[in-house]
Amino acid sequence: MKVVDMHCDTVLGLLEEEEKGFPVNFLDNDLHIDLHKLQKGQYLLQNFALFTDQKKREIPEEETMKLMDMYYRMLEENEDIIAPVYTYEDIEKNEKEGKISALLTLEDGGVVFDSLAMLRNYYRMGVRMIALTWNYPNGIGYPNLSMDDFVNYKEASFLQRVDTVNVLTDFGLDYIQEMERLGMIIDVSHLNDAGFYDVLKYTTKPFVASHSNARALCPVARNLSDDMIIALAQRGGVMGINFCGDFLDLPNKEPHSPSRIQDMVAHIKYIRDLAGIDVIALGTDFDGINCKLEIENASQIQKLAVALEEEGFTQEEIEKIFYKNVLRVYKEVLK
Ligand SMILES: [Zn+2]
Repeated sequence: MKVVDMHCDTVLGLLEEEEKGFPVNFLDNDLHIDLHKLQKGQYLLQNFALFTDQKKREIPEEETMKLMDMYYRMLEENEDIIAPVYTYEDIEKNEKEGKISALLTLEDGGVVFDSLAMLRNYYRMGVRMIALTWNYPNGIGYPNLSMDDFVNYKEASFLQRVDTVNVLTDFGLDYIQEMERLGMIIDVSHLNDAGFYDVLKYTTKPFVASHSNARALCPVARNLSDDMIIALAQRGGVMGINFCGDFLDLPNKEPHSPSRIQDMVAHIKYIRDLAGIDVIALGTDFDGINCKLEIENASQIQKLAVALEEEGFTQEEIEKIFYKNVLRVYKEVLK
């Protein structure tokens, strides 16, 4: 079964290794994702997020540029195995040539620092999907879970705090419309509920929640409400099942909930019955999560396909979840 995964933080993992003085090896490493693991997992395409923690780095733009350099270096060193994509046609071309596709994304659209010129430059540098916020308010909008209010991550009241008040900024509205014009995919994972409904109101194309689950089954604010899932499905968008244990099953164990296949299947079943199969995709969050994983890394992702089959999902349904739904959105939006 081919695989398209909408979210991982592997580039940051590689950069951190290099900054510690270790040689970077994208072919084989101890992260959740390396090229041999992607090959073993039968990946067609992996999205690679550049995650910049704006509060941890003195000059966030510089960090984003370092991450982007790492991304392109690891692709250039392995150009016989993996190649970047900018359009849907690039994905088809790579597949014909037997190469894995890599799509560049940003996790925290705030790195453009209130400048549409910078947004356009990120497009020119190959970015094709942007999560509007991470866990801080930025020039675009607000997350549900703001690290500024961080007291105790394990506190249910923090994890379940939903913000239906703080809408996108005026710049945020210009930003999402410019993204659509350019052919970039808007990602609402981490964004607050008020921002989600603004994206729905002020855009026309399909958008995604690259790594978010169903709030009805795991009531953390990082997941989507039933109403949001239905709206996303009606728009023709997709949501990627996040393998983070705390977003699959409400954290009640130390240090984190384990990531279990049975919970992934439960979310998938729930979302299918609520809004249809066409809205479901994968957004593992590999290398961005540190819980105990039943699917330990990318090489084992087919375990989920087997589990879905055992639960009565048809091949067509599994194909849609694993790659066809995301490719449908990429075909419609990317340019
Ligand atoms: Zn994330």
